[in-house]
Amino acid sequence: MRLILFGSPGVGKGTQAKILSSTLKIPHISTGDILREAVKNQTPLGIKAKKIMDAGELVSDDIMIGIIRDKLQECTDGFILDGFPRTLTQAVAFDHLTDELGFKDVIVVNLYGDEEKIVSRLTNRRACKQCQNIFNYFDIKDLTACPNCGAVNSFYLRNDDTESVIRHRLTVFVSTTKPVLDHYEKKKKVVHVNGIASVEEVTKNILCSINEKIKNHVKISA
Ligand code: AMP
Repeated sequence: MRLILFGSPGVGKGTQAKILSSTLKIPHISTGDILREAVKNQTPLGIKAKKIMDAGELVSDDIMIGIIRDKLQECTDGFILDGFPRTLTQAVAFDHLTDELGFKDVIVVNLYGDEEKIVSRLTNRRACKQCQNIFNYFDIKDLTACPNCGAVNSFYLRNDDTESVIRHRLTVFVSTTKPVLDHYEKKKKVVHVNGIASVEEVTKNILCSINEKIKNHVKISA
């Protein structure tokens, strides 16, 4: 299965991508995580990307397309893309790449949600320095240890999760990333799922929508 998890920052793409990746046993490709790892390791890419990410801007299309080209070649049996494509240029390049590789069955899951709820989610989330997992501040009962990897005193607020940067990221999403959804709507590849519900409910709804889409596709092409 090949999925693009689409949606604004903070709508739950990363959380859902991790769950779906382990449920469906297909790799999760998060461009944000790839960039954060590069920043942590201070690679030339990381040094270049840090300022852009901290300001809530987008890293250049050329760099992102290069990263995804390499990754897709490693994931021939399926993938869950989280955070890519984020511009029309990236979407067109992705379509060419998937055509070249013979991947015809890409489904775009559009997670949507109310903007104010998303701002509140993002300002209240904390990431673990060690495993990069993200938690809601109010859900972490033991503020000293990460529930995922056990790292001590490892929570931090991402530089791009401060309120002013979040509002800017949401503006960039509407102006630059939203057109990607229209592009895939025209190709009839999109299913829509409300991202503002419990994690379990959103996962269940994503799986139902994907199954429905696959069933209809088989019906149409049968
Ligand atoms: P994310 O964790 O997906 O919200 O990504 C964090 C940041 O990484 C974004 O705000 C961008 O600065 C950068 N980024 C991630 N994916 C992309 C992409 N496909 N195109 C451009 N920049 C990206």
